[in-house]
Amino acid sequence: MDEMLQTRILSAVDSGFDACTQFLSELTSYPSTRGREQGAQEFMAQELAARGQKVDSWRIDVDDIAHMAGFSPVKDNYEDAVNVVGTLSSRTRKGRSLILNGHVDVVPEGPLDMWDTPPFEPCVTDGWMHGRGAGDMKAGLASNLFALEALRHIGFAPAADVYFQSVVEEECTGNGALACLQRGYRADAALIPEPFEEKLVTAQPGVIWFKVRLKGLPTHVAYAGAGSNAIEAAIPLIAALHAMEARWNAPECRDSHYQQVHHPLNLNVGKIEGGDWVSSVPAWCEFGVRMGIFPGQDIEAAKREIEATLQEAAQEIAFLRDCPPSIIYHGFRAEGYALAEDTSQNAAKAIGVLEKAHNAVTGKALDRVSITATTDARFFGLYADIPALVYGPRAEAIHGFNERVDLESMRRVTQTTALFIAQWCGLEPI
Ligand code: ZN
Repeated sequence: MDEMLQTRILSAVDSGFDACTQFLSELTSYPSTRGREQGAQEFMAQELAARGQKVDSWRIDVDDIAHMAGFSPVKDNYEDAVNVVGTLSSRTRKGRSLILNGHVDVVPEGPLDMWDTPPFEPCVTDGWMHGRGAGDMKAGLASNLFALEALRHIGFAPAADVYFQSVVEEECTGNGALACLQRGYRADAALIPEPFEEKLVTAQPGVIWFKVRLKGLPTHVAYAGAGSNAIEAAIPLIAALHAMEARWNAPECRDSHYQQVHHPLNLNVGKIEGGDWVSSVPAWCEFGVRMGIFPGQDIEAAKREIEATLQEAAQEIAFLRDCPPSIIYHGFRAEGYALAEDTSQNAAKAIGVLEKAHNAVTGKALDRVSITATTDARFFGLYADIPALVYGPRAEAIHGFNERVDLESMRRVTQTTALFIAQWCGLEPI
């Protein structure tokens, strides 16, 4: 790309950056946790339409996607899960097409008194925007949008079709991105600005969610010996799962992309409930678990090992021998994905273009990272033959309290994205 054009693109991002920050603030103010994404999605649809994109907004229907590879089971049908995709059609179609993907759903904010400022009242201090979802990943949606906006500002549109995806369900199933595939959206590459410090993600684990349900025998606590405490029975089962986690993480079991990562597969007991009354021996307990698996690791084999681990541990507890724990799979049934293994020309080309753009903006080489969380990249890479580049801004405390995103980092990612689009898709005058 000639240097003058590059400079014009970079300064167009700069001059639109206040608007970009304002957009991020407004988007972050929508409490778009699972089931409550509609306001944020309506806002996204409006913003895309206002910028000349053709907007496709639809409610995800489980029946449409349940048969597809990569589908994760859900308890109910989706009454309220709405995807939004904006299309920018090129007149010339002389370049390569692109999907710009981001998710609008955020994880629950947790107890409000643990936040320094209210999670859905975004505020900026010292160059960071605070708020639930600001980093994961509304800043990415903002950078996608304002990269396109910068090109428009200087009179250009991408010279290939660009699909701007604002999806739901990333944080629990990925079924939002899957529904975009079902709807027919395809491109030569996908860019997903998840917040991984301006590094290119070259491997991500798979994730399995499961729930363990234990039934005990309720008695008055005065005769506790005769009862079967379902809550206390959970403790050795959780310990057994952690022992399994340690086995899977042993250096000799580690996937080649994770040789240098200390503890790549994490087991998290993220929710627990049980019992009805403090003076009654609890008759039930239920806990929800998230477990990682390596790229290439078979999900069904992993599930069998999880089940065997739980059944074996249950054998040690007298009442569970008669009433073994039940295991329910709702939520992530996600395979791992390694962009590093994509040997296609498209992948090499896309990574090369990103490398150049990143270097032009930061003056540095593009670092690669194997992450320990999943992203929607797997759908494009594994099931649609579309190399998926995960590259986004620096954020802190995502899924935690006082989540925040580094605005200068978002500016650089927006610039890199604008250069990437210009180079990957080519440009045509508006
Ligand atoms: Zn995310």
